[in-house]
Amino acid sequence: MLRDLGGRVLNANAAAAAALGVVPDRLLGRTAAELCPPAVAVAIEDADRRVIATGGQMAVEVELETPWGGRAYELVVYPVLGPGGATIAIGSFAIDVTERRRAQSLALERERQLVEAQEAARVGSWELAVPGDRLRWSDELCLIFGCPPGFSPTVEEYVAMAHPDDREEVRRRVGRAREGTLRESEHRIIRPDGEVRWIHTRGYGRRDAEGRLTHLWGTSQDITERIVREQELQRSRAYYETIVAAMGEGYCLTIDGNVSAVNDALCELIGLAREHLIGAPPPFPCPPPADGEPTAVGGAEPAGREDGTFEITLRRPDGTTFEAEVTTRPARNPDGTVLGLVSTFRDVSARLRYERELERLATTDPLTGLANHRAFHERLGAEAARSRRHGRPLSLVILDIDHFKLVNDLHGHPSGDRALREVAGRLRRLARADELLARVGGEEFAWLLPDSDATGALAAAERARIAIRETPVEPAGTLTLSAGVCDLAHAADVTELYRRADEALYLAKRGGRDRSVCHPVAGP
Ligand code: GH3
Ligand code: MG
Ligand code: MG
Repeated sequence: MLRDLGGRVLNANAAAAAALGVVPDRLLGRTAAELCPPAVAVAIEDADRRVIATGGQMAVEVELETPWGGRAYELVVYPVLGPGGATIAIGSFAIDVTERRRAQSLALERERQLVEAQEAARVGSWELAVPGDRLRWSDELCLIFGCPPGFSPTVEEYVAMAHPDDREEVRRRVGRAREGTLRESEHRIIRPDGEVRWIHTRGYGRRDAEGRLTHLWGTSQDITERIVREQELQRSRAYYETIVAAMGEGYCLTIDGNVSAVNDALCELIGLAREHLIGAPPPFPCPPPADGEPTAVGGAEPAGREDGTFEITLRRPDGTTFEAEVTTRPARNPDGTVLGLVSTFRDVSARLRYERELERLATTDPLTGLANHRAFHERLGAEAARSRRHGRPLSLVILDIDHFKLVNDLHGHPSGDRALREVAGRLRRLARADELLARVGGEEFAWLLPDSDATGALAAAERARIAIRETPVEPAGTLTLSAGVCDLAHAADVTELYRRADEALYLAKRGGRDRSVCHPVAGP
């Protein structure tokens, strides 16, 4: 999405419109405050302000109610720079992070429940004389088995309490325990109240002086909670891993400064096998291009050190490069302590190309390649503010081709177009790098001259006039220009500056054309 410096939408795609629940056309000209819930609007306005103030990039997380339910988005807001390097618009795009977030928090919640379940697990103890057939249970064990205190089953009664599917196995294990060869077992029981519980049993043998087994004893623990939690954890881990594996973006988890998990997309993206990535310390193992350090965007640190969003150019082992957008966030334990860092890598080369093209189209006049009306007025505002701040002059020249209608009438519209391109080219060659030349009307151009006062701007207007008139413009023949000039020192604001330059242009036309007039016009 592209917005002007006041936050009004200039351009948006269908996905953005759908997320905001309107058709794309309804977005145009509207602000975040008009389109989003207040909390989201405030976050976006804050990001806009910071992007404009710092010229850097910002990422904010926002939540929106969409036609397909509440979604979480990571919104990346960045400055769109005009030809002179000034911020002329605000670009943004949103990544839907709902599934990733949901999966991550589910997995963390399951882990927390597992820890709790382990702590809450109850333990009882038992004894069996060898030979002997009746077990002695502690009160705690009776409770675990759902039996009254003092209950002491025979071995066969104990086996009968096992879940039918586990019964044969339990019988076999009791046999082995009596021979002194079994230490541990895990199986299900059915309590008298019908509840199925998982029991973990540990056994030990006591022997007499001749080494004969005389006594078996051990502990039994109700591990149902743990088993259930483990199964859930397994399921949510599988779910999280599926999400991560299915992510188009590269994923990397860093723990204690080393890469501990990556997905296939990341390996593919940066052209390195998993075994080369696991264990490698950040900054990321794929080296930045020859000119050194990865570029930190938005004043933040390169990937892997702090949270934030960065754009860096990365080089694959085969030498090809790509623009990666890296978002790094802390991965937290349930108690809030930082476990490590999660970074997602996206190849944004195509998006950047597309957006640069979009920006170019949005700010360029297609016929002449000069800045268009909108780009001109945005730059005019920025330059006027800068001029006031630094006490430097700023002047404006408006140029209009004389009797251009005749060119069309005599040679046809296509020839008129060619003439316009030729005039634009000559004017462009006169403008300095820090000046801005724009096509602001059919055959009308505006020339913004930072650091020039009225005298300098009038001289520039005269150079332009001569450059057009001294050489015929094919296929139209000799053309002339009229120019109006005004200095910001003679205007209260940019609107007045433009109006006064336009009035001066009108006087030049009225005075016979092919001339430059500067405001204020000297009296007779
Ligand atoms: P003046 O000296 O008073 O400026 O006379 P003019 O004929 O140049 O001014 P006017 O505003 O009457 O007409 C401007 C003409 O410019 C009208 C239109 O045919 C032509 N024009 C505007 N845009 C284009 C364009 O994109 N291509 C071509 N070929 N002609 C254009
Ligand atoms: Mg004209
Ligand atoms: Mg005109």
